[in-house]
Order: sequence, then structure tokens, then C-alpha cells
Amino acid sequence: MPFPGFAKVNFVAKTLVIAEKPSVGRDLASALPGTFDKSEGYLESADYVITWAVGHLLTLWEPEDYDERFKKWRTADLPIVPEEFKLKPRDGKSKKQLNLIHKLMKREDVERIVNACDAGREGELIFKYVLESSGVEKPVERLWINSMTKQAITEGFGQLRPDEQLRPLERAARSRSEADWLVGMNATRAATLKGRAWVGGVVSLGRVQTPTLAMMVAREREIQAFVPAPYWLVHGTFEAPSRAGYAGLWFEGEETRIWNAEGAPGGERADAIAAKVRGKDGRVASVERKEQTERSPLLYDLTSLQREANRLFGFSARRTLQAAQSLYEDKKAITYPRTSSRFLSGDMVSLLKPTAETLLPISEYAPFARYVLELEQLPLGRVVNDARVSDHHAIIPTDVEHDVDTFSPDERRAFDLVAKRFLAVFHPPARYQRTTVVTEVEEETFRTRGKITIEAGWRGVYGVEPDDPSRAEEEDGESGELPKLEEGMTVRCADAQVEAKETKAPPRYTEATLLSAMETAGKRIEDEELREAMKENGLGTPATRAEIIETLIRREYIDRIAKELAPTPKGLQVITMLEAHPLTSPDLTGDWEKRLTDIEHGNGDREAFMRDIEGFTRSTVEQIASLDKEKLRPERAELGLCPRCGAETGEIIRENSRAYGCTSWKSREEAGCGFVIWKRVAGRTLTPEIARQLLEEGRTRDVLSGFRSRAGKPFRARLVLNDGKVEFEFPQRAATGAGASSSGD
Ligand SMILES: [Zn+2]
Repeated sequence: MPFPGFAKVNFVAKTLVIAEKPSVGRDLASALPGTFDKSEGYLESADYVITWAVGHLLTLWEPEDYDERFKKWRTADLPIVPEEFKLKPRDGKSKKQLNLIHKLMKREDVERIVNACDAGREGELIFKYVLESSGVEKPVERLWINSMTKQAITEGFGQLRPDEQLRPLERAARSRSEADWLVGMNATRAATLKGRAWVGGVVSLGRVQTPTLAMMVAREREIQAFVPAPYWLVHGTFEAPSRAGYAGLWFEGEETRIWNAEGAPGGERADAIAAKVRGKDGRVASVERKEQTERSPLLYDLTSLQREANRLFGFSARRTLQAAQSLYEDKKAITYPRTSSRFLSGDMVSLLKPTAETLLPISEYAPFARYVLELEQLPLGRVVNDARVSDHHAIIPTDVEHDVDTFSPDERRAFDLVAKRFLAVFHPPARYQRTTVVTEVEEETFRTRGKITIEAGWRGVYGVEPDDPSRAEEEDGESGELPKLEEGMTVRCADAQVEAKETKAPPRYTEATLLSAMETAGKRIEDEELREAMKENGLGTPATRAEIIETLIRREYIDRIAKELAPTPKGLQVITMLEAHPLTSPDLTGDWEKRLTDIEHGNGDREAFMRDIEGFTRSTVEQIASLDKEKLRPERAELGLCPRCGAETGEIIRENSRAYGCTSWKSREEAGCGFVIWKRVAGRTLTPEIARQLLEEGRTRDVLSGFRSRAGKPFRARLVLNDGKVEFEFPQRAATGAGASSSGD
């Protein structure tokens, strides 16, 4: 120091930085100036002290912490509504770190505190709980960064946000956590007191998990009630004058399927059509060529990334989140992943080309990165939108070198999705030519569709190449080339074949489709832009959805069977118990979510929200308490005498939570005759009606949908009862009722 006499005599003021975890603390230290010394639980330089939480160090009190008597669950005590929510350390380890942080916060040379926890709701809450529990009142600033690169950290410290700016986020975070406590604690106690006997144990309910489960139960009921309807298709094979062949599918109006109708069963009608046209001359009634364009999807937010990774690689939502989080945190390769925005902000435009440049050295991205770099003007219309970026922008690669060889296989796949989408959005739309040919024979019409890719556009990033224009892929009928056809041309129907088919039950949710349904609170919306507008009213937030799915699995409410998610008998029972209760309504939960978003954006009212949640909790508890216990008891079906021992003992078959079993079973020691039909068979739940059919008729009347093999393959089968054992009987391969019209020889 040039003038030592002017140096402060007492101490050098330091800044205390609190990160969310140790690894982040170390990253911050390496980006900040000065040398850091390592101490137990913190790092220190001349200007900074860096310490960290380990996730949540504090948690809300349990009911029994407020009052000993709440240890016992009693309906009369509900709802439990603390006047003021209180905090306690999560466990011994948390307490130790918390004490250390408090000590550092109180140090005299610490003048200000920087909250460097994750730049989102949970991170805000982790820090605010620590601050609240310390009682320290020193100036607080917020490090708010979108990527963990050294440069981003340095810049972030150069423009720390005043804590006031984060108050709305803090209010939303506290509201959400307290609302989940109120609804969860109380509804769970009320439902358990009411239904424990027959659900078996604690009936856990929650503000977001319960409506999510309800959506899945509704779908499961649709599947179980589904009766497949037979229909028939007629495939024609035509010969153009050039002798080249093409296929066509019979249609009438918009319909290609022939249904059973009164008086004229579908199979017979289909056979008649095939017989009528086979070998006859016809003509090309019309040829329509249309050009179609398809734009690149928007950049990823977390939910769309999770959906895509589930669809393509079968990743669970949690697995994708973990890969993305470590790409962000450890590899510094992508920007902040827990985002709900699919756009970038205007101030990022100058970063786009440098970011594309970082993909240039990676061979599979090189040609597309080069294309982007050579653009004079980047098309930003669907990429940049300041109004749709609030706390975070869409997920894109960071503008540093990417050492993809060090990525784990999961990280590599997640990075591939992010990198390709980033390049794709700057590419032109894909262009197709769609051709629809209508062929008419004996007054019957056949449709042939072809599609050629004229220009791959953004799909080129994904390996699609334009087709040779002389070729065409066909959608209907068998694959083959579509010959040159002109309107009015005479063609010959060389053959016509009938195919018998059946309608399919609606599919179970996969994690991809469940995430979509959660995003729109159960409304089926395919349009990407419309979904965008809906997503403040979804179930949960992008950051929490993976955890909600895992919670439902942990509570044994749903099973993950290969890619599918299916409710268990327990899950079905819980929703049956609540039936039309508002807690099962995705709409209502979507509304709560919207109000939380409003609070987060500074235009909602936390007090009003909490009052309403309290009112909702009160009425939920009352409604559950007033459910008639007798009516509530799931109808335990009694299905007549036990086929094994009933004739001698008079024992019957009665439903319990897991099976339809002989009442001679008393306990493991007194297992009785041992006759049992399990409720879960190959991933499907057997209803009492199915059990009844098995017992009375020895087989199910219908071929049942919804089974899954051990390898995860879906299958349909009849169940038969063979010597007291349930076995599968597989349907014959699609033969038409009316003697499948074999082709014309
Ligand atoms: Zn028996």
C-alpha cells in the first residue's frame, strides 16, 4: 500500500458469499480475484469469505413441534394452521453447518452478504431461511447468473442484484412451501384417519401430487372400460399405364375405416368392395400437389427437454434433470436448466455467434454451426422475446469450449439435444411436397399419399436429407415409389385386400405425455404456441415435476412399467375415495400455480393467497371428515363360494386391497386353502368384474388391453382360470370374421 498511514486501522471489510453447495462454492472461489485459504466449511481470501449450505439446511416445523398433542393424529385437531411458520435444522449435520454460517455472518469484518444460491425459487428460500434464522441484519445482495462459466460468474459479481428485487420471488417461495405444508399435512392426516384401514397405512395427499395422480387414474379407468371395436380397411394395388404399381387405401369422405353397421357387418362390406374392384379398370380422379413447410421447434425449457429425452431415450424426468444440472454446474456446458422460458433475451444476441462457434470443433455439429456463423442476419423471430424471459432464458450451450469427451453418456445425450436445437432454430423451415392421388374404380375411391422432402432445412441438423425429387415415400399403403400420375389416366386395379383391425385403448401416460399434461393441467393441447400461453397454470413447476413423479412412485401410487406410468390399486383407491373432491382437480391446482407465478412477478397478493389456501385446507379437512365411512369403504366385492374349498367350508372369495382371495386365509400361519387372484397382473389392475368372470366362467369375456410383458412390451390377452391359476390366452392373429378375403387367385 503506498500510503500505509491511510489504511483502515481496524479491519478490512469482507463480503460473505453463501453458495448452495460446496462444489459451487469452490467454483465461485476460482472465479473471484485473490487467493483463497481453505478452512473447515468455508474458503477465505483478503476480500471474500465463501461458505455454503448443503441444500436445505432448515425445514418447517412438524405439527408436533408446535404442540405435543399433535403427535397423535386426531380429526378434532384439524386443520392444523400455525399462526407463524417456524424453522428447525434438518438434522445434526445441517445444524453444524448452519452454526458455522451464522458465526461467519456475525463476524465483525463481514460487512455485506451475497446470496449465491441457485438462481431460482428453492435457492432463494434456502438462503432466506438461513438469513432469517441468523437474526443478522447486514446488507444483502444477490448473485443471479444464467451459466456457471468463469466469465458469467465474474460478470455476475460485477452486477449483483439488490435484495429488494428478489422479495417477490421470496414471497412466492414462502407461499408455495407453506401452502404445500398446510394442504399436505392436513389432507394427509384427514384422509389417513378416514381411509387408513382399507388403503393400508398413511394416505398421503398433496397440493400437486394428488391432481397429478387423479389425471392418471382417469386415464386408467378409460383404458379399463375400453372395449375394442372391429373395423376393416381395403388396400388396393393399382397399375399405371407405365406398368408401375402403386398402393391406395379405400376411403369415403374422411373415413378410411369400415365399421360394423346394422344389416351390413363391416367385414362383409369390405369383402364386397374388394371383390367389386379387383381386376377392374379405373381412372385417376385427381392429383393434388401441395407444398408444406415446417419450422424448427422452439428452444428448450426444462419440461420440453425432459419430454424429448423421455421420448427418444426413455429417460425419466429426474434422470434428464440430473444430466442437465451437472452439465450446467460441473461441466459449465449449458445455461441454467430449471427454466420455464423457451426464448432468449435481446441482450444475448451478441453471444449467439460466439456460442455457435464453440460447436464448430465438434464434428457432428460443424457444418450446421458453420451455416449459422455465415448468416449475415440471424433469424430471431422465434428465438428472442424479452416478454417471455423473466428470471431465466431458454437452455442453450454456453459460450465456452465444450470438452464432450469428458461428458457422461447421459450428459452427452442431453447436450446433444440442446446443441442441435440451438443450431436448428437458426435454420430455415423444412419444405415438403405432399401429393394426394385419388383413384376411382367401380365408383369406389382409393387414396394414395406421398411426401417428399424438397429441402431439409432445420431437419438437416438431425440428419434428414432432401429426397431425390423423382422418388416419393408413401404414407398409406405399402411403401414404394409413386409413379408419374396425371388426372384422367386409366389405371388397372391389380388387386384388393381386406385388413381386419381393432380400435386401440387410449395409451397410458409416459413421462413425456404426463409432463405435457402437467404443463397444461390436463388439457390436451398439441399446438406449441398455445401450450406456451397456458403454462403458468400448470401442475407444479418445471423444477418440481420430476420430483412429483418420483414421489408418486415412492408412495406406491403409481408404477413405472418400461416407459409407461400406471396407477397401482392403492393409487386407484385413493382417488376413488376423494372422487370429485377439488383436491383432485387439475384446474384448481393450475389456478393456484398461476397465483404463485403472479406473486413471483410482483403482482400477486401473498396474504390473500395464504388466506385462500387456509380456507381450502379447512374445507378439505371438513369434507374428508364428513365422508360417510361406510360409503367410503371401497366396495369390497364378494364373489361367491371359493372354487377350491367353498363346497366343504362355505368360505367365499372376498376382495382386499391386493387380491381377491379365499376367506379361509386368516394370517400367514393360517393360510387357509390358498386360493387367490392377484389384482395386479402384468402391470394391469383386475377389476372385481373381471375377477367375477374368471370365477364364474373360467375366462374373461373380452380380450383385455393394458398388459405389459416383463420386457415392457404391451400386449392384449384373455385371462383364463386354469386349475386355480390365472393364465393368459392370446387372441388369434387378425383374421376377418367373414373369412378374410384372400387375394384374387
Ligand atoms: Zn378356499
